[in-house]
Amino acid sequence: MRASWYDQFCDSPDVLRSDRLERTVVAIRVSGGNLEIGGEDFITMAGPCSVETEFQLMATAIHVRRAGARILRGGAFKPRSSPYAFQGHGLEGLRMLARAREETGLAIVTEVMSENDVPLVADYADILQIGSRNMENYALLEAAARSGRPILLKRGMMATIADFLRSAQIVLDCGNRNVMLCERGIRTFDTSLRNTFDAGAIALLKQITHLPVIADPSHAAGHRELVPALARIGVAAGADGLIVEVHPNPDEAWSDGEQSLNFAGFDATMHELMPWVALRNIGRIAETEMMEAVR
Ligand code: PEP
Ligand code: MN
Repeated sequence: MRASWYDQFCDSPDVLRSDRLERTVVAIRVSGGNLEIGGEDFITMAGPCSVETEFQLMATAIHVRRAGARILRGGAFKPRSSPYAFQGHGLEGLRMLARAREETGLAIVTEVMSENDVPLVADYADILQIGSRNMENYALLEAAARSGRPILLKRGMMATIADFLRSAQIVLDCGNRNVMLCERGIRTFDTSLRNTFDAGAIALLKQITHLPVIADPSHAAGHRELVPALARIGVAAGADGLIVEVHPNPDEAWSDGEQSLNFAGFDATMHELMPWVALRNIGRIAETEMMEAVR
């Protein structure tokens, strides 16, 4: 790794890649075996922005599972821009997620917003999501880390890579090495998309850290038409997986309907991604061979 990167990110020494350190592979126990993120398989997490109804969640879970997703997303505690918008079903939402896991065998990723909620959410979730708005909430990061659950850490909308890595370092400092870094777009001067998808950040994170990197094309784009293209870019940039919003009827969604794919859209996105994922796998083999050659 370039020496100047060690200096630039010296606040987060334990997240940086080194020749002595294997890449981190996050293992999640699911019915029928282990799921690995950051390993050979490309992993897709999919589901609604918010858990709304039993029907909405179950229909989505069954569908995304058939289409190849391995992890179900869905917010039970929702950070919303307006205090008057739907804030999530809380515990009832977590129960619905657990029932969907039982039914489909998908693992569950869901957001935790407050340190007080960590024990409850950790009881139900396989992966705790720390949202963009909370990336620098160190008390929450510490509580989430100490739960022992893997953490999906979303990049803050105004966070530099150094800020992002410092937050990951906090989790590692608490003895939890199972951190996944999620690029979900950042705020820039351009408002034509909801956010600006920082594909370069994905490439850089894969170069400088040993942690799995997940791309979120939904929150980056803000418009469902652009989700397939940003998903492809995420794969091409080297992401280990995707997190995508899917809803049975996006126009009726209680949150983030504009950027949610319907079932047919998700099927098409997954299908279109197949050659890109295959290329990624060839690239990974080539990279391993190259690393061995230069050793
Ligand atoms: C979400 O995943 O629905 C979400 C709120 O994401 P972010 O924290 O990236 O805005
Ligand atoms: Mn959302």
